[in-house]
Amino acid sequence: MYINNVKFARSNQQQKGVLDLKKLSRVQEIDDYAGEIDYELVGFVDKLNRPTLSLRVCGTIHTLCQNCLQPMDVAIDNTSRITVFFSEEDLDAALFADSGSGVEDGVVAEEEFDIMQLVEDEIIMLLPYATKHETCVGMSYADKAENPFEVLKKII
Ligand SMILES: [Zn+2]
Repeated sequence: MYINNVKFARSNQQQKGVLDLKKLSRVQEIDDYAGEIDYELVGFVDKLNRPTLSLRVCGTIHTLCQNCLQPMDVAIDNTSRITVFFSEEDLDAALFADSGSGVEDGVVAEEEFDIMQLVEDEIIMLLPYATKHETCVGMSYADKAENPFEVLKKII
């Protein structure tokens, strides 16, 4: 889905939808993630009159515990603010400015800006890596399994 990101921001447009992680090829290249993620993109202008996009992504990611390899769910809910700049130079200057430019993230003005690409990039940044159950049954099992010699010593 493509938007003119400047017009979208200046006219306070909104766009929302749901993405299936199984259908995001770049996400699937990283790992076998599943789940549906809601996104909401809202356009506005910031205090400095710059076109800006607010992107919220939330949902539950189904992945595997890296310890016991059983399924586990990780909830994500994140909102980021993306400022639209009219040139690469302005974007770089704002992103790499030493003094706080107030810019969290930015993109360049485009008449055909790909929303799905933006949402997928955002999801990729939020993907859980090397996740483990908070109280993992597999772990305690592994601990016990590693200690037969300790047990033996006590018996002897
Ligand atoms: Zn586990």
